[in-house]
Amino acid sequence: MQAGRGVLIVGEASNGGLGPTTAELLAAGRALLRDLEGELTVGLVGHNLAMAAETAIQAGADRVYTVDDALLQDLPADLCLSALAELYQTVTPEVILIARTAWGREVAPRLAGRLGVGLLQDCLEVGIEADSGRLTALRPVCGGNFLARVRCTGSPQMAALRPQTYAPLTPEPGRRGEVVAVPVALDASQVRARVVRRVRHEHSGVSLTEARVVISGGRGLGGPEPFRDLEELAGTLGAAVGASRAAVDAGWVPGYWQIGLTGATIAPELYITVGISGASQHMAGCSGAKVIVAINTDAEAPIFREARYGVVADWQAVLPAFMEAVRSL
Ligand SMILES: Cc1cc2nc3c(=O)[nH]c(=O)nc-3n(C[C@H](O)[C@H](O)[C@H](O)COP(=O)(O)OP(=O)(O)OC[C@H]3O[C@@H](n4cnc5c(N)ncnc54)[C@H](O)[C@@H]3O)c2cc1C
Repeated sequence: MQAGRGVLIVGEASNGGLGPTTAELLAAGRALLRDLEGELTVGLVGHNLAMAAETAIQAGADRVYTVDDALLQDLPADLCLSALAELYQTVTPEVILIARTAWGREVAPRLAGRLGVGLLQDCLEVGIEADSGRLTALRPVCGGNFLARVRCTGSPQMAALRPQTYAPLTPEPGRRGEVVAVPVALDASQVRARVVRRVRHEHSGVSLTEARVVISGGRGLGGPEPFRDLEELAGTLGAAVGASRAAVDAGWVPGYWQIGLTGATIAPELYITVGISGASQHMAGCSGAKVIVAINTDAEAPIFREARYGVVADWQAVLPAFMEAVRSL
């Protein structure tokens, strides 16, 4: 494999615009370039990418490469791989960063396989090791109980980052950069899996992963009904409602409410947990929260090690008073 230069962000376009994780990866890539030489480029595959490409420049990219084709409209993994492999040959970066979104989870390992290199998976932070100049990353292991520092050995060096672990750079509306269309002859017969139906999560109000305030309930709520109280409180606060896996597994709330290692990753300004013990697998999804508030009857619950403010009490006593106070404010 030839030695590359710079950082290639495998970006994502959504609804004609740039997906939020691409701006986060640009911040990570820009930080890496303090210790690497070369440009910060974004590779976009999909269809009608002009606006997303422009936004990527404003979000910090020096150059954007696009493979824009109607066949890529639904992002079929097989064709995306051909397009990404071609982008790699065009850009020849030293480092490739991709977000660990649903699409990223599908294509990142396959792209690594195609390039014959390893992939640092589920990274919370990436850096360049001073002595070796290799890409290193911090990633949760053993169900989130430990963090391991791992290092890339192949070339190009490749990492998949967990969403919401880097704050995007401040966008610069007048920023200029080149957008390069990469011609790739795609073969529709290569598609082995097709999207047959898309099911949208019905949710009114704020999305869990973008909310500035999130209120979550756990097994300590005792059943599905108290989640209606959390929804009411969330409505007053302009917040989103989440849950622990125990509440999801009990069938009290839908699976897409789950926060944690095997659920959503959130990074709100304020995270209020009610009847959640704070197991490491739950905390793996909310370690980016700025302020955690916990309501729990057990003073020894691990959540109190993470919470800035805690109430050791039955939620049934605390929540009505809290809701009243919020309403009056
Ligand atoms: C591979 C793997 C992946 C996992 N992924 C996830 C994940 O993504 N997300 C996740 O959440 N979990 C995940 N888990 C499960 C995790 O280990 C915990 O089992 C789970 O988070 C516990 O949920 P909980 O805190 O609601 O329940 P519990 O641990 O049972 O805690 C309930 C809490 O409520 C308190 N309580 C009880 N009654 C009241 C009351 N009346 N008022 C106030 N507090 C009360 C109790 O003191 C207790 O601390 C995973 C586990 C594994 C092995």
